[in-house]
Amino acid sequence: MSAHRDDPNLIRFALHGGAGELPADAGPQDEQRRALHDIAAEAVALLQAGGSAVDAVSLAVERLEQCPLFNAGIGAVLNRDGLPELDAAIARGEDRGTGAVAGVSRVGSPIRLARAVMERSPHVLFSADGAEALARQLGLPMVDPQSFIIPLRLEQLAAAKRSGSIALDHVDAAAAAPDAAFGTVGAVARDRRGHLAAATSTGGLTNKLPGRIGDTAVFGAGTFADDSSCALSCTGTGESFIRAAFGQAVHGRMRWGGMSLADACQAALDDVRQLGGVGGCIAIDRDGTICLPFNSGVLFRAWWSADGGAISTAVWRDAAMPQTAPVP
Ligand code: ASP
Repeated sequence: MSAHRDDPNLIRFALHGGAGELPADAGPQDEQRRALHDIAAEAVALLQAGGSAVDAVSLAVERLEQCPLFNAGIGAVLNRDGLPELDAAIARGEDRGTGAVAGVSRVGSPIRLARAVMERSPHVLFSADGAEALARQLGLPMVDPQSFIIPLRLEQLAAAKRSGSIALDHVDAAAAAPDAAFGTVGAVARDRRGHLAAATSTGGLTNKLPGRIGDTAVFGAGTFADDSSCALSCTGTGESFIRAAFGQAVHGRMRWGGMSLADACQAALDDVRQLGGVGGCIAIDRDGTICLPFNSGVLFRAWWSADGGAISTAVWRDAAMPQTAPVP
């Protein structure tokens, strides 16, 4: 692979809308699959027109933040005080650039702010008030925290408080309502020049303690990109993904252990499980291999490869479940 060619055949793209558990009779999840499909199509068109991997993952995650079907931006889950506290990160494989924000409640698009941190600040990670001050200073759109809140999340918070749990959105949503909004969002891309990028955005966990930060915002855990190995975006029990140093573990196994992307992701996911976590990731390696592994019941996902034709979408692991393109 050359990182300097301009070749449309190098393009790869994948995105996710969270991992979790759904009852087997929950149906094909058409609304979510349609949203993932259409956003993936927009990102792929941008890549084909010469857009960078960073442009593609930013666009896709910003669109997903605006979509109330997922746990990011509008529709994000709520902390113990009933507020959305949003985390987001972006990673650029070309030079290991990264930018992240944690615990923001007033920034219209957390992923836009994360990208601004990467491109327009001397730092890589901002939190809460300081992150929001930076957003204002950079002229990014600010919103009322209430504008992120949808009724389902208030119901989930009330249920979590009744049971005294701090719930992964997707597991809780599955138990409460099979058609409920679902998980964290993320995207990975390889562009026409062979550069990789990843982006992730989330509301985190329902009923989380104020100030809690998950793996999404942590480079080398839930979000990672390096052109020498892979780009990846995770979803699941953030504490376990941080303790597993998920992104860095996959990178290290590929770089110095000679493992394939699939084996490296599986080993890192095994580690997450040993640490008590569930979830999955979407990943693309430097050679264009796409892997979408998970140890939970479902992973909402869509992917496209320059050699593969149509955009595919899937929810379940089991091929017998209704889960492949075309989306109705
Ligand atoms: N990983 C996210 C977090 O722990 C949650 C998720 O993927 O839904 O903040």
